[in-house]
Amino acid sequence: MSIIVFVEDWNNLFKKASFEAVSYAKSWAELAGTTVTAVTSSGAADPAALAAFGADRILTTTLAATPFGMAQQLATITNGSAGMVIAGTSLGRSIAPALAALSGGALSTNTTDTPSSVSPVTVERGAFSSKGIETIELIGGLPMVSFVPNSVGIQERAGEGLVENLDATGTDLLRITEQSIASGKVALPEAEVVVSAGRGLKGPEHWSMIEELASVLGAATACSKPVSDIGWRPHSEHVGQTGIQVNPNLYIAIGISGAIQHLAGVSASKTIVVVNTDAEAPFFKAADYGIVGDAFEVVPQLVNAMRAFKAGQ
Ligand SMILES: Cc1cc2nc3c(=O)[nH]c(=O)nc-3n(C[C@H](O)[C@H](O)[C@H](O)COP(=O)(O)OP(=O)(O)OC[C@H]3O[C@@H](n4cnc5c(N)ncnc54)[C@H](O)[C@@H]3O)c2cc1C
Repeated sequence: MSIIVFVEDWNNLFKKASFEAVSYAKSWAELAGTTVTAVTSSGAADPAALAAFGADRILTTTLAATPFGMAQQLATITNGSAGMVIAGTSLGRSIAPALAALSGGALSTNTTDTPSSVSPVTVERGAFSSKGIETIELIGGLPMVSFVPNSVGIQERAGEGLVENLDATGTDLLRITEQSIASGKVALPEAEVVVSAGRGLKGPEHWSMIEELASVLGAATACSKPVSDIGWRPHSEHVGQTGIQVNPNLYIAIGISGAIQHLAGVSASKTIVVVNTDAEAPFFKAADYGIVGDAFEVVPQLVNAMRAFKAGQ
């Protein structure tokens, strides 16, 4: 009756959200008086490293190529387990509903806290486009949680760390024929710092300063919906009610008005900084820090200040 946790890697290295997932599973397991079983790719460089975050058993397997195939593989071991944890990364958000359907799971998505009780499993999740929080009880089937990355944090608590091979099969219903991967970019849903810009930037040719600021901060870039609708930026960067919901430690909004639909995707950010020429822009009401100023003057100054700060460290 272990808590199972899916552990994602990128280029054979574990993601930060994966350590957070194991930490999440450990908190749940401690409350339930049980162990943590991590499932990961056999290509992962150092599976035993998961023990530091609480993994007692670490099952490595050759993962299928697509989320449905991976969900089938996970379904082969969830039978009889006490619960399932998946980080709400892009991949995790694809696997979780398929796994819930395959294994009869009660899935809490957008979860923002570890269980407060295990009989029944009770968690908090973001509701109403993350404008509200609801408490839910997982009352039937396999309790499953997909949590928002950066919401519960990483904790080091030792597990036994026994590494075993798992022979699990999954059928891919899709075939990937070509893949192009942006290198050196921070994935938006898991980013700790996000630099986001809107129509105030006037045109796609001005995004180099946004990318420069993101690069110096080690941040992901994002944008408002109209910016991606016009084609200035890819849709994968659009945040908000109809786009990606982010949960970074720092969200910098540049030339974005702060419409309610945009705020719905960013209001969980721990610190919000707004740069806007209009002192009456609604975004200032949601901001922790605000700069009333022209992005074309403010952003280069921020880049220089960050560079000088880093050079002085
Ligand atoms: C059903 C529905 C769903 C939607 N979903 C989303 C969503 O998911 N995400 C989303 O973003 N929007 C969404 N929208 C659109 C949303 O209502 C707003 O229209 C949109 O967020 C506005 O984008 P913006 O702030 O980039 O542009 P604008 O509203 O045009 O604001 C531009 C801002 O830039 C400032 N500015 C101008 N020049 C400068 C300068 N030089 N320096 C600094 N600041 C400057 C202006 O003062 C202004 O505040 C949705 C709308 C609907 C109806």
